[in-house]
Amino acid sequence: MNNKLYGNLIFELSKAGRVGYSLPKNTYGHGLDELPATLCRQQEAQLPECDEPTVVRHYTNLSHNNFGVDDGFYPLGSCTMKYNPAINEEIAALPTFSALHPMQPAETCQHALELYFRLQEALAELTGLSEFTLNPCAGAHGELTGLMVIRAYHESRGDTQRLKVLIPDSAHGTNPASAAVCGLEVVEVKSLPDGTVDVGDLRRLLDECGPQVAAMMMTNPNTLGIFEHAIPEITRMVHDCGALMYYDGANLNPMLGVCRPGDMGFDVMHINLHKTFSTPHGGGGPGSGPVGVRQGLEPFLPTPRVVMDEGEFRVAKGDYEQALGSVGSFFGNFSVMVKAYVYILTLGREHVKQVGPLATLNANYIKESLKDVYELPIEGLCKHEFVFDGLKDKSTGVTTMDVAKRLLDYGYHAPTIYFPLLFHESLMIEPTESESKDTIDGFIRVMRQIAEEAKTDPELVKSAPHQTPIGRVDDVLAAKHPVVTYKQMLNDTH
Ligand SMILES: *Cc1c(COP(=O)(O)O)cnc(C)c1O
Repeated sequence: MNNKLYGNLIFELSKAGRVGYSLPKNTYGHGLDELPATLCRQQEAQLPECDEPTVVRHYTNLSHNNFGVDDGFYPLGSCTMKYNPAINEEIAALPTFSALHPMQPAETCQHALELYFRLQEALAELTGLSEFTLNPCAGAHGELTGLMVIRAYHESRGDTQRLKVLIPDSAHGTNPASAAVCGLEVVEVKSLPDGTVDVGDLRRLLDECGPQVAAMMMTNPNTLGIFEHAIPEITRMVHDCGALMYYDGANLNPMLGVCRPGDMGFDVMHINLHKTFSTPHGGGGPGSGPVGVRQGLEPFLPTPRVVMDEGEFRVAKGDYEQALGSVGSFFGNFSVMVKAYVYILTLGREHVKQVGPLATLNANYIKESLKDVYELPIEGLCKHEFVFDGLKDKSTGVTTMDVAKRLLDYGYHAPTIYFPLLFHESLMIEPTESESKDTIDGFIRVMRQIAEEAKTDPELVKSAPHQTPIGRVDDVLAAKHPVVTYKQMLNDTH
């Protein structure tokens, strides 16, 4: 452990009376000392007292201990962590966007409303759906909004008994959670051994409770990175019994420019702008989960929506009688939308078509290059991501956790581990389209090196990481007993 970097918390660097600034004396005659006592703190705030260089160095050193997509390859599966082009950040930070007030009159922010409008249109074009709302602030929020649209649609037709949602057992946990929050009952659909939806099980469920089904939710490619080939059959079966198809668009990346959910028969979907259309996420945000619907469902979409009237852009708030109302504050996470729109424009119609095929090529290249040393439970073509079930040679006792930790020593962020739950030693890799062949070859070399080490020196891998400032942490203890504040730490040690 490097004490210079890790020895101290900012509180421990504090010296009473030390300050970052020496402000001049207040000579105006009215100041803090004249504030009414009721507005003043009763006791001093317990803040660290440090000079400015100490503060700057402390946080700069802390930032060096982090790992991000700007530091190295970040092959986290299930939750696309794309390279986020710097131009996105630059444009989103322009005062013309960042200094807007959400309540300022439309005539003073036509440029922002135009961006909002054009993004609604671009998403509709890319997905083959009719209209989008940009109001929801995350994928899960989009799922809830989409299910609310579906409920409103059925209710408008007097179909109030449709309260069940069919969800494959391979789905992301937010799917059943959103259905439950929407007051709907989750019915699980089984998967086949190859990870795709079991159409036979779906048929049985539809025969059993078809008239009570509001929708089926699907992710495609699914959470294993496998394309659901039976979609035409599934959408026909679900539509035939009067229910709607919901598309969880979190895995839209490999389909971009190749095929569109709208053309496949999906009626409602969300897009995770912070996944498919860049924006760094993790640590809880920021996100944006626009919801798109096919023709006929637009009246139920939430407001606000931005429309164009004779070349002018305006916020259409009260124009929709059946609309859900607003599902988020004001317009949603506008800066994420700016980044998504810049991303779409910098690719253009032509290059956006290469995103999906390149992401798919990269994933398959890694899979094929490593499957002789890592266990590949599902053979065949994957899309943007795939899952290994640990090392092929299980006799060494080296686990997926050990491999993930050893990767840190080589300067790579670990892939997603122990998800999906279908396999004991899941190691889920998603390279995205933005990585070069050199980067990917480097990762393959290191993965093979670790497989070799597992044979020749298993203890080295099991005790990894060795090169990081902090060694192997006790995950279970950290989850069960998190110590996240200085006060808590003092209480724990005293
Ligand atoms: C990330 C993800 C979600 C949830 O999206 P958030 O933006 O994190 O709320 C839903 N489904 C799948 C398949 C995902 O990967």
